[in-house]
Amino acid sequence: MKSRFLFLSLAMLLLASVGYADTKVVAHRGYWKAPGVKANAPGSAQNSLAAYKKADALNIYGSEIDVWISTDGVVYVNHDRVFKGCEIQKSPSKECKKVILDNGEKMPTLKSYLKTVKKGKCQLVCEIKTHKDPERLKACVREVLRLVKKAGLEKRTDYIAFSWDACLQLAKEAPAGTEIYYLNGDKTPQEVKAAGLTGVDYEQKVMMQKHPEWLQQCKDLGLKINIWTIDDPEIMQYYIDKKVDFITTNEPELCKSLCK
Ligand code: MG
Repeated sequence: MKSRFLFLSLAMLLLASVGYADTKVVAHRGYWKAPGVKANAPGSAQNSLAAYKKADALNIYGSEIDVWISTDGVVYVNHDRVFKGCEIQKSPSKECKKVILDNGEKMPTLKSYLKTVKKGKCQLVCEIKTHKDPERLKACVREVLRLVKKAGLEKRTDYIAFSWDACLQLAKEAPAGTEIYYLNGDKTPQEVKAAGLTGVDYEQKVMMQKHPEWLQQCKDLGLKINIWTIDDPEIMQYYIDKKVDFITTNEPELCKSLCK
């Protein structure tokens, strides 16, 4: 009787899990958005420590950031090439650290960001920005890997990049098992697999209109799929139904509710 109950319970669990989508949510530049709030409106700031904490409180898979390296080797967290007059890749740290985000925080260094990540559970999805000078890009990848290792967050950090070279460097220099995804949408799943990357992180139009066949090809090759940046619930549902691994969104709360 007991074993029959156990069997039935297991069967029900299995059925339930089949019925649920496997898609996980990544908050794009953290969970910075309040309802009706535009990017970087007063009190709200992308890539801020507050945006990570909010994503973490939402209990989702990941929180994304963008990183650049200053001329003297300090990694800063920000999306824009030029933010409030400061171009990180062309500025010394003493200039970068003067920049204040719209929520009143200082523009964070990666070092300070990692301290906050350490206190949370949410995975860090770190986008290495494409620097003009390939040598600075290499230095940025190396310094990010060093800081993440030092913080003891190697298992809690995934990497994404538009630069194919940065992805190849990450595949070579990051510890085995580190998740690395290519963003630029111009490599086939076969090429991504051959390079030893974890998967693709492609714009939603690439996988919906340009190359819908790539979804199945990724699955057949064992590549994971992340799709950016989806804020429209209908498009979210399209990809949830396709069982992609991750959706990157500015609306993590909405996306989480659809994934359930
Ligand atoms: Mg990004």
